[in-house]
This record gives sequence, structure tokens and C-alpha cells, in this order.
Amino acid sequence: MKGNILFFFVGIIIIFALNVNFGQSKVKKNKNYNIKISELKKMKKTESEWKRVLSAAEYHILREKGTERAFTGEYDGHFEEGTYVCAGCGNKIFESETKYRSGCGWPAFYNAIQGSVTEYEDNSFGMKRTEITCSRCGGHLGHVFNDGPQPSGLRYCINSVSMDFKSKSKEEAQ
Ligand SMILES: [Zn+2]
Repeated sequence: MKGNILFFFVGIIIIFALNVNFGQSKVKKNKNYNIKISELKKMKKTESEWKRVLSAAEYHILREKGTERAFTGEYDGHFEEGTYVCAGCGNKIFESETKYRSGCGWPAFYNAIQGSVTEYEDNSFGMKRTEITCSRCGGHLGHVFNDGPQPSGLRYCINSVSMDFKSKSKEEAQ
């Protein structure tokens, strides 16, 4: 009889301990799971979701790798102090200090913010070019060429439509 009671208590303790462990691992898993889902929702949208959140021009350039007409972009001749961010996801991609007048018809920068853009070989239209996309959402930004000014010698040739501009003076005022 005594043995049975002891067995009963040990059993309850084991069940209780297992439950606590189960409870904790459940919470942990759910937490991680939630973070991943929210990140995925932010960065990896389906094409129909992108269509909903982007304008027609933004969708064409960011998602279909289009190019705006030369000398027509909002930021071609734009030289305010601030930061250029991806129009698709808000990722900071270029600082105004690296923007220069290249005369090529599109906004040009000699450097990108480190880690913000990804390079791909682009052999479309019979040309050998290096495509630049946003590292965060994969949106097409433009191309990078080796005819830029020092110190980098690079020219990031970027569509205005692919970017939004955050003015430094406005940021400071907020
Ligand atoms: Zn982006």
C-alpha cells in the first residue's frame, strides 16, 4: 500500500515536471515563430501583395526590373542632405554624401550603405551588367558600373522610383 502511494506521488511529480517543461518549450517556440512570421510578412511578400502596396511604376521597376526613362526621375537632380531608402521596404541604401552628378540621367552614387544592396550578374539585353537589388526585400534598384569617381571608382546608377528620400533636416526636427 505504502509503495503504491509513493509511486502515485512520484508519478504526479513526473507529470508535473513534464508539463512545466512542455509549457516552457511551447512558449519559446511560439515566440521565435512569431518573430519569423512577422519578418517574413515584412520582407517576403507575394507578387499580388507587392501589387497592392506599390504604385504601378514602383511595381514595374522593383518587381519586374524595369527602368525609368533617363532624366525623368524625381531624384536625378536632387541634392538635399539625407538618406535614400528602398521604396519597397524602407531599407536605408544610400547616403546623400555619396551622391554625385554623373550626367547619365539617373541618380548616381559612388557607394552604397554597407550590406544594404546585393549584386547580381545581369546579361539581359545583350549587355554584361551588374544588377543591384535591395538586400532586404530583393527589389530591383538599378546597376553598378566601374566608371565612377574616387574613392570607390563605382557608379551606382539607381532608379528614382526605387527609392524614397528621408531628409536630414526633417529627421532632426522630429
Ligand atoms: Zn527593399
